[in-house]
Amino acid sequence: MADSRIAGRAPLRILCQHEQGSCAACCGVYNFRDRSAEAEQARLLRRTERVCAAWPPGSAPDEAALARVRDELLALEAPEILFAGVKVCPFAGFVDGERVGCLLHPSRHPSGADLRDLGVYPREICGGHFCAPHDWLRAREADLAATAHGTFYGRVVTDAGLVKALVRLLDDALGRAFRGEELARAQPALEAALATLWAELRDWPWRDTDPARFGGFVFVGNEATERGVPSCLAGLSLPVEPAARAVLDALGTRALDEEGARAALVRLDELVRAVATAYDRAG
Ligand code: SF4
Ligand code: SF4
Repeated sequence: MADSRIAGRAPLRILCQHEQGSCAACCGVYNFRDRSAEAEQARLLRRTERVCAAWPPGSAPDEAALARVRDELLALEAPEILFAGVKVCPFAGFVDGERVGCLLHPSRHPSGADLRDLGVYPREICGGHFCAPHDWLRAREADLAATAHGTFYGRVVTDAGLVKALVRLLDDALGRAFRGEELARAQPALEAALATLWAELRDWPWRDTDPARFGGFVFVGNEATERGVPSCLAGLSLPVEPAARAVLDALGTRALDEEGARAALVRLDELVRAVATAYDRAG
């Protein structure tokens, strides 16, 4: 797992799930060359159907059947994996509607038994791992991340650099520090502005479409070794806020010429200002 360590005790605020968003990054859910919403949905649905067929909800588990499903899914998905250094567990699926989580979690077992040793990590890691953003994100940064919904929330919350840069841009647009709890009590216009922000960042028009690109990295070779990518604004003489540059690079923006850079920066500014305006009006 990236940033893996077992916490001595659980953090005060666990970032893995919120009411409208969920994450399974440390189970490898986003570690695929095709990270489109459609491909992700199909992959998670296939896992969920196969695992639930082997272990119908409420029944006693057949561990041999689950192990067979695991091996089939591992073989099916192997050619699509992006980065060999992050394991992909086929037991991460839809646990409640569109919520991604662990299909072997003890809460799904009739007597609460923990079957997670069947996955790609020992169950102690599954139960005790809390990624670095648990330490790195301050409360209002986590609050902003939690305005992202669905499985995209996981992509956001695990990129602390992206979240921190967006917080700086939003503070700058407001002229003061926003209050995280006020985002949670969002008014419709603020919710709409935030939804537009996240939707555009997910399908960022200036992103590098090379499937080997993930944020500020590209994964190359048979072992998909990660390499840092120069900033998308490298070599340009535009005056750019470091936070805006950080957001563009975290989004996997391709190398831009001056015209493209201006257009991308203007659009990012518009998106952030729309949130700031709606926040001001909601207050
Ligand atoms: S928030 Fe961190 S610990 Fe929780 S599921 Fe995502 S990557 Fe794993
Ligand atoms: S078994 Fe562990 S690694 Fe696999 S989905 Fe469950 S929590 Fe994630």
